[in-house]
Amino acid sequence: MMLTGKARLAGVLGWPVAHSLSPRLHGFWLHRHGIDGAYLPLPVRSEDFLEVVRALPKAGFRGANVTVPHKEAAFALCRDHGRLSDRARRVGSVNTLVFAEDGVIEGDTTDGFGFVANLRQEAPDDRWTRGRAVVLGAGGAARSVVAGLLELPGITELVLANRTLRRAEEVAADLADARIRVCALDGTAAFADHCALVVNTTSVGLKGEQSLPMPLDALDPAALVTDIVYHPLVTPFLAAAQARGNPIVDGLGMLLHQARPGFQAWFGVDPEVDADLRAHVLAGAV
Ligand code: NAP
Repeated sequence: MMLTGKARLAGVLGWPVAHSLSPRLHGFWLHRHGIDGAYLPLPVRSEDFLEVVRALPKAGFRGANVTVPHKEAAFALCRDHGRLSDRARRVGSVNTLVFAEDGVIEGDTTDGFGFVANLRQEAPDDRWTRGRAVVLGAGGAARSVVAGLLELPGITELVLANRTLRRAEEVAADLADARIRVCALDGTAAFADHCALVVNTTSVGLKGEQSLPMPLDALDPAALVTDIVYHPLVTPFLAAAQARGNPIVDGLGMLLHQARPGFQAWFGVDPEVDADLRAHVLAGAV
């Protein structure tokens, strides 16, 4: 699509940003919907972040995604000088900025939305929304996943397991929900039965390591198993779960769905996630 002088502009702020799949993802949607708009990689160092963010609306940008290392700075900016969505306030992080018409910078976090939307699409049998969920890991991504899952009223117990117990306790304290139960990563076997959903958010398996973040021997055979690591697409954890017959969902769809709220706010269309988009984004993953 040729750009006109009225083109809508957005982008992703990060350092480095060359590895980001977001320009490829949003570019696909812009092309598919014939939108007069552009989504640009914006390589910005930490020390320049505030200056650049404040300048972008003055240059006609409608908003931006924020990635490493700017998520906390974006959160503080919106908390102190802008507006935060309820979920961004709860999670304590921002990955999507919208420059509102009244000049206010709005911050949202969409990873939890993307996580749940992906499972809803890939596992429409919604058994995983009822009963006990086990979340492995207590890093930044786990916070979003846990917050997203706690929005589902059918989740009656959420077991949050982490190698560093203190970190899991901090997440539980911040999210303050009586359904959260914390345990060490090596204590998850006790929760494997009567379990509807297991989510790996740890980096175990990221570089093709073969060790599993949780033993699967006692896992309910009907439990849905998902990994938010998407490189490789089928992690050793997912492969092991699939081999014993559990349904699995990979993590790529979370990345694709988390981009939808930003695209809709900047470009006016709620875009769809489908096989063509998956293939296009995967072809750009290294
Ligand atoms: P993070 O904040 O650094 O947290 C990493 C987590 O992994 C922590 O819970 C950490 O435990 C655990 N961990 C790391 N190495 C471990 C090991 N050897 N054994 C056991 N636990 C280990 O990272 P993050 O931002 O949460 O991201 C986690 C992963 O999710 C990354 O691989 C990232 O690429 C992926 N991700 C995917 C999406 C998506 O859209 N699909 C979105 C965001 C992130 P400790 O606390 O004990 O260190």
